[in-house]
Amino acid sequence: MKRLGGLDRFRPVAVLLVIAIHTGPLLSISPWVNDLLTDSLARLAVPFFFTVSGWFLLPKVRQQGMAALTPFVKKGLLLYGLSTLIYLPVRIYSGGWEGLTAWDILRDLIFDGTFYHLWYLPASLLGGCLAALLVQALPRLAGPVCGLLYLLGLLGDSYYGLAAALPPLRACYDVLFTYCFDQTRNGLFFAPLFFLLGGRLTGWASVSPSRPVLAVLASIGLLLAEGLLVRQFQLPRQDAMYLSLPLCLWTLIRALTCVPLPPLPGLRRVCTVLYLIHPLCIIGVRGAAKLLDCTWLLVECSPVHYLAVTAAAGLTAAPFALWNPKARGSVPLRAWTELDTNALRHNLRVLSALLPHGCALMTVVKADAYGHGLAQVAKVCRQEGVSAFAVATVEEGAALRRLGIRGEILVLGYTPPQQARRLAHYRLTQAVINLSHARQLEAQGRRIKVHLKLDTGMHRLGLPWDAPQTLLQVCACRHLTVCGIFTHLADAESLTPESMARTRRQIRRFRQAADALTQAGYPLPCHTLSSYGLLNYAPAPSSAYVRIGIALYGVLSREGDHPRLSPALRPVLSLRARVAQVHRLEAGERAGYDGLFAPDHPAKVALVTIGYADGYPRSLSCGAGRVLIRGQAAPIAGLICMDQMLVDVTEIPGVRPGDMVTLIGQDGDQTITAEQVAAAADTITNELLSRLGSRLERVLR
Ligand SMILES: *Cc1c(COP(=O)(O)O)cnc(C)c1O
Repeated sequence: MKRLGGLDRFRPVAVLLVIAIHTGPLLSISPWVNDLLTDSLARLAVPFFFTVSGWFLLPKVRQQGMAALTPFVKKGLLLYGLSTLIYLPVRIYSGGWEGLTAWDILRDLIFDGTFYHLWYLPASLLGGCLAALLVQALPRLAGPVCGLLYLLGLLGDSYYGLAAALPPLRACYDVLFTYCFDQTRNGLFFAPLFFLLGGRLTGWASVSPSRPVLAVLASIGLLLAEGLLVRQFQLPRQDAMYLSLPLCLWTLIRALTCVPLPPLPGLRRVCTVLYLIHPLCIIGVRGAAKLLDCTWLLVECSPVHYLAVTAAAGLTAAPFALWNPKARGSVPLRAWTELDTNALRHNLRVLSALLPHGCALMTVVKADAYGHGLAQVAKVCRQEGVSAFAVATVEEGAALRRLGIRGEILVLGYTPPQQARRLAHYRLTQAVINLSHARQLEAQGRRIKVHLKLDTGMHRLGLPWDAPQTLLQVCACRHLTVCGIFTHLADAESLTPESMARTRRQIRRFRQAADALTQAGYPLPCHTLSSYGLLNYAPAPSSAYVRIGIALYGVLSREGDHPRLSPALRPVLSLRARVAQVHRLEAGERAGYDGLFAPDHPAKVALVTIGYADGYPRSLSCGAGRVLIRGQAAPIAGLICMDQMLVDVTEIPGVRPGDMVTLIGQDGDQTITAEQVAAAADTITNELLSRLGSRLERVLR
């Protein structure tokens, strides 16, 4: 995230520009230069904040849907509410309160802001929500609509002279200004375009611009020229925004995001506070000047006034650099899975290298990517160029789409036909499991993509392999676009002669059915192999995909499996928790439920913050499983509880609360593999990993 460093460092500059607008630092030296600064150049500041907010907000909206707006709106409302309260006394004192109707208050709250500089907060809320809504509901029209709003805003602002020249248009604006808002400088007209721009800029951040500084200087030159021009022709009613501002922001942010410096979240908070409190500081400096009888210096000498206000605001805001309301990342976690994204990338590359030309990986990410976290795994897969995914349910497929995955998403499991609408909406491909399933899906009248699932001997799901007429009946369904055919092998992990014979028979039957369809005019992309299929049987030259699940995550299903190919896969997941408490037991004392830990010697047990509700199998109780603490193995003591368990640390010196506990993964030179844990729990890694519960936190490494 080093791209944020430049943006963060420009924030104080933007706030200094805003303070300049409200104080006029060069007024007593040269009004003309001061105007150039405050009426043109400094107008960059507020759009900068809108654009940066869009940069953060819109990608989240694209990924998580409108739910991503909730924290944005909450934070905005909180800031706006607080600031309104802070400025309420000033507003009442200055008399801006008398004769206000309920409608006046409402329009202040929504459009004009409750104090002059506070217009930014409702504008940001309104503009952010509008842009998000447009991006979600009308992605193609979002740009034109925001652009149009911006132009309408300009006609009521810097270009009001043009509107005023056309009586009907002038009448419209006059009605708006009388009844709706004091000016078009608000969240309806100006903010959405900058939010949208910010969202678009994230996509450009990986492409370095050529001559960024030159582009910034040229666009700012344009801005200054435009400002001079509109004032020359006396067009402005206000001069909050200009035609060239979006271009300036585009070049400025592209230049800032090339700066390879670390982000400064503390500075972000300081700048927010600076922005909000500087008008109070203006009042404070004026008051102090009167008291000290030096108005001539502190107020009338404009550069000194500016510096005094800035210094007062800076001193008030500085402590906020240290105050961090959500330093959550650094809070020690209770129990968590750690994802080694480099291992995942490595596995993707190693597995791809095993595929023949024309065959691609279809990464199987069902069950929250085998407990690894769908979002994190899908993101890495997409970055590595994977364009086909398999899931078990419509809901999982929809989640992938909401994460922004565009390619093929095959739903492997049964989907009730009534969900055809959701299949179509999320452009998911459904496995057709038999003729009646196909007919019921067809009857929903939605055009959906399907793959034919053949039963070639596993007798789980599937159309019969030896009934080509049935397959053709599915192909003839008007609403179903058949774009693949596949089967699943029942026995691919075993290399005994009987298993291999069964597997070969399944593959033969599949080929026969696929060939029959080809001859009937339906040459369909085929796939038969999953992880063990790939490692034990080479994909047929005609395979379109290999469906890779467990191997992607760098583990085999069972300890001691020796597939024909054993590429160097790296485990992706580690499972960790913490020591919360350490107890010393006398010989003969018992610990845990049923007192099942009963050492006959003095012992020491540590309470570990993970239990079977987190997905750690209860069958590992009473020494069946072990964990690593301080790089040494500690057996599980007594029965594993729902949320915690005890481990025997008698042999490990110095164990204390807070120590990290490794349940799967490496600690020092010791490792516990998922295969070992699964074997001890009498299951396979697929089950162990996919049951790691939703209560675990996730950490990327
Ligand atoms: C789960 C699943 C896979 C992936 O299997 P792995 O053994 O984890 O690679 C492939 N195909 C189907 C039909 C599945 O259900």
